[in-house]
Amino acid sequence: MAKYKNKCAKSGFITLNNQSVINEDSSYSSNHESAKPWRLRCLTCGHEYGANGCDIHIRKCPECQGGAKGLDKAT
Ligand SMILES: [Zn+2]
Repeated sequence: MAKYKNKCAKSGFITLNNQSVINEDSSYSSNHESAKPWRLRCLTCGHEYGANGCDIHIRKCPECQGGAKGLDKAT
């Protein structure tokens, strides 16, 4: 696998699905090898959740867009 390089994860970025990238957030635990956890906020309903950095561009809100559940909190 190519070395992880994050192109889409950037603070302030808004995806096509209307999800705003807040910041990298290590209080979530990434479930993807080599991805960092990020906090996203849905601009439609305001829900905040964690997502793998590499998944940000395809993420949909788990509350109002039927997306996958956010990442678990790190322990
Ligand atoms: Zn939402």
